[in-house]
Amino acid sequence: MSAASSPNNVPPDPAPQVLKRIAAPAPVAAVPRGDPCIGGLVPYSSVDWPGTLACVVFISGCPWRCSYCHNPHLQLRNGHYDWKAVLEFLAGRQGLLDAVVFSGGEPLSEPRLPQMVRAIRALGFRVALHTAGIYPSRLRDLLPLLDWVGFDVKSDAAGHDALTGRPNTYAAAQACLQALLASGVGFECRTTWSPRWLTEPALLDLARDLARRGVRHYAVQNHRAAPGSAPSAILSATALAELETLFPHFAYR
Ligand code: SF4
Repeated sequence: MSAASSPNNVPPDPAPQVLKRIAAPAPVAAVPRGDPCIGGLVPYSSVDWPGTLACVVFISGCPWRCSYCHNPHLQLRNGHYDWKAVLEFLAGRQGLLDAVVFSGGEPLSEPRLPQMVRAIRALGFRVALHTAGIYPSRLRDLLPLLDWVGFDVKSDAAGHDALTGRPNTYAAAQACLQALLASGVGFECRTTWSPRWLTEPALLDLARDLARRGVRHYAVQNHRAAPGSAPSAILSATALAELETLFPHFAYR
């Protein structure tokens, strides 16, 4: 998942003296039996749902094995945070945070996610989801409860399985995109790009197809070997100029 925040690099609490009542929960040795698998928590972030101050809850578990995955420790379903403690923490942030973003791993791998989203909404927060498009049916069921989705467009049909490390992944991703387009829920498509897995002409073809189908928000994120490191390649000025004309909202990160 291409979350902007990383559960490996949690920023300090912004105002602990004001928020004495409930500190951000710490990882626990073992979560209660039957609890969801939460592998990380970023108490506040303004980059995971652009323009919204959100807490990011990272779900552990992902069936894909993308070659560039920055959170491989979130691929296995191991929970490290007590969901009840997370809810208590969020209850203490009402009025201070706008939203909760579920990221991962792949958050739709968590079968309890709909109940989690309902519990968050009951506290008055808006809810966003980051997804790679692995579970179309689960996404369709959850969309009515979501306010925004960050959708990873991994690659074109030819390169999808090679990048995700699993067979037959393109059809699921396409079904998820179709569900998003039909839902009316706000969303951004984003592609983590390197010419190692997608040539620049192939990226432009992919972008043209997204624009033709009605995607309005698109971002290309340079692949970086590690967060904060130099990009492995830079898009040409010609490619950037075309991408900017294809979408009403385009970002190059
Ligand atoms: S979809 Fe890929 S990048 Fe995202 S968590 Fe799974 S393996 Fe990692």
